[in-house]
Amino acid sequence: MNSKAMIIKELRKVIEFYGELGFEYLPLKREDIYGLISEKTAITGRDSVCSNQNRAGDEDNYISDKEDALKNLRKEIGDCHRCKLSENRKNIVFGEGNPDAELMFIGEGPGRDEDIQARPFVGNAGKLLAKMILKMGFKQEDVYIANIVKCRPPFNREPGEDEITTCLPYVEKQIEIINPKVIVSLGKIAAQSLLRSKVPISKLRGSFHDFQNIPVMPTFHPAYLLRNPKEKWLTWDDMQKVLEKLKKR
Ligand code: SF4
Repeated sequence: MNSKAMIIKELRKVIEFYGELGFEYLPLKREDIYGLISEKTAITGRDSVCSNQNRAGDEDNYISDKEDALKNLRKEIGDCHRCKLSENRKNIVFGEGNPDAELMFIGEGPGRDEDIQARPFVGNAGKLLAKMILKMGFKQEDVYIANIVKCRPPFNREPGEDEITTCLPYVEKQIEIINPKVIVSLGKIAAQSLLRSKVPISKLRGSFHDFQNIPVMPTFHPAYLLRNPKEKWLTWDDMQKVLEKLKKR
């Protein structure tokens, strides 16, 4: 195959790769294309970062300790009525994933589908997040996903400050148990609540912040990205920084 045909073949793979991520166009300069070809090979060729498989020794006990701690926390939450979000919810959405995850995603709160299924990020926004996780080189079961509030705010409104303050200790406890290497917060509420900040998400995203010595990368919420697909590039940039950080820690 001549070099032109090779480039076209690789370019097709790049376009398919970004198409799967949901990008609708490639706003790139010619020189960027060559960078993307090698970047795509690097991303799709990397090993899964599943920490379970890589840690040795008494790892099983270590993980089951974390599993037990999470189960105990779930028991402690019980049929929680500590804030008024309990009034309309169908289910408490505790969170799910690998108790020993290196990477933790934290969103705002459950939506309609999540409330029905008692699982985080299962609607359309969840499908986009799942694609992102996969393209980062993880399996869905490698990471842990939770929300700032565990009950669905009615009509998908933002949770109120009182509701966030009441529920926040639960997700903070989950972070303490899981002790991930990096946290990705999804959307304004998740970032501002974790970081105790009022800075807009557009300014918080793109650089790391600190939550109890764990680096936090705020990025846009997948639901926002579904409404504003052009911003997916920024979130993908943020995820590249997360992958770099994970390599170093
Ligand atoms: S949102 Fe949190 S604090 Fe409020 S009722 Fe649900 S679990 Fe309890």
